[in-house]
Amino acid sequence: MSDFLLSPELSELRSRVRHLIDREVIPAEQTLIDEDLAGSDQTLRALQTRARAEGLWTPHLPVELGGLGLGVMGMCALFRAMGRSLLGAKVFNCDAPDQGNMDLLLSTADEEDRQRWLKPLVQAEITSAFCMTEPAPGAGSDPSNLRTRARQDGDHWRIDGHKWYSTGGGRASFLIVMARTSDDPRTGASMFLVDRKDPGVEHLRDIPVMAPDLLTHREAEFRFHGVRGKVLGGVGNGFRLAQKRLVPARLTHCMRWLGLADRTLDMCREYIGTRMSFGKVLTEHQMVQLKLATNARDIHAGNLMTLHCATMLEQGLAKEARPYSSMCKDHVANTLLRVLDDAIQLHGALGTARTFPSAPGTATAAAPAWRMARTRSTAW
Ligand SMILES: Cc1cc2nc3c(=O)[nH]c(=O)nc-3n(C[C@H](O)[C@H](O)[C@H](O)COP(=O)(O)OP(=O)(O)OC[C@H]3O[C@@H](n4cnc5c(N)ncnc54)[C@H](O)[C@@H]3O)c2cc1C
Repeated sequence: MSDFLLSPELSELRSRVRHLIDREVIPAEQTLIDEDLAGSDQTLRALQTRARAEGLWTPHLPVELGGLGLGVMGMCALFRAMGRSLLGAKVFNCDAPDQGNMDLLLSTADEEDRQRWLKPLVQAEITSAFCMTEPAPGAGSDPSNLRTRARQDGDHWRIDGHKWYSTGGGRASFLIVMARTSDDPRTGASMFLVDRKDPGVEHLRDIPVMAPDLLTHREAEFRFHGVRGKVLGGVGNGFRLAQKRLVPARLTHCMRWLGLADRTLDMCREYIGTRMSFGKVLTEHQMVQLKLATNARDIHAGNLMTLHCATMLEQGLAKEARPYSSMCKDHVANTLLRVLDDAIQLHGALGTARTFPSAPGTATAAAPAWRMARTRSTAW
């Protein structure tokens, strides 16, 4: 795989994901959103059943947990294909933050918590959230500002604090909460598993953000009042585990964003290939060609950066991959935003439409996707 070529098996899997996304998920996007706003998940469940029937469910997980044991390089290929739709990852149960939380539980949870939380999460019977960020002066870009505290109380822990921007927290069944357990700068934080229904968990609100509401992509704000927590991965390992989760989590965002950029470029090609302006199709105007060429180049570069980082992770070089994963996220996020912004421009008035296309060429998804991408690209 070091030459970044996909094996025939992986190519075949990718084609099947792409087929499901293009034929069934993209045409259902507006329905998925409308149903979600009306409190239903009928179409989402039907699509998830299709993904299971195709043997494409949770492909990132090991085979013994029902996944495909793809490894990071395999995820790059499949997540990119899923990312063509903002709702794609949810259909295969690979969406953030559940996918990262599954990985974390896999490497840290004991048997009881695997049965209680991981198993239903893998089956999409429940969802989860990851609670690190706090309002200033608490933890943000700098996790060492952590203010949420956990105190030992007999054989368990009690957590007090204030968290916000916990994606999916409002609907989650459990939370993974970072809290301070000592003042040591390296080992002062721990992760805790928290039942969202614990009476001490106060869900203050879902913070209204510029992105459209997309299923569980709502940013919750919580106050914790003596919440009961169970240590995950050992006391004092919070910062280490957060770093461990961070690099692959960044990369999976990049994989999905590349897919969205691919689709956006396809939409542009379709529109400019037919739209006449000043006696020729838009494709024949040089400035338009330049936009597409620049965007195609940067998507390709982003893909190579992602694959490079994935290779490092597969070789056990997680620590060394950290700066590359930051560069990769910065490059891919900025590329996606420019691709979407150009798409809004190239589609003229249609580019500002807020709806998702029900058939190719009827409208673009560029405007809501830009708002989503701009919001998500500020996170980590
Ligand atoms: C859509 C969305 C989803 C999110 N989901 C989650 C989630 O599920 N769980 C969770 O815990 N958090 C989540 N977050 C929060 C996110 O991780 C934080 O916003 C991020 O870590 C930055 O922290 P902050 O917002 O406190 O910014 P601040 O720390 O206040 O930073 C402000 C600005 O300063 C910049 N900055 C900071 N340090 C430096 C430096 N050394 N040099 C130059 N610039 C610097 C930052 O990049 C930022 O632009 C989410 C945020 C968003 C927008």
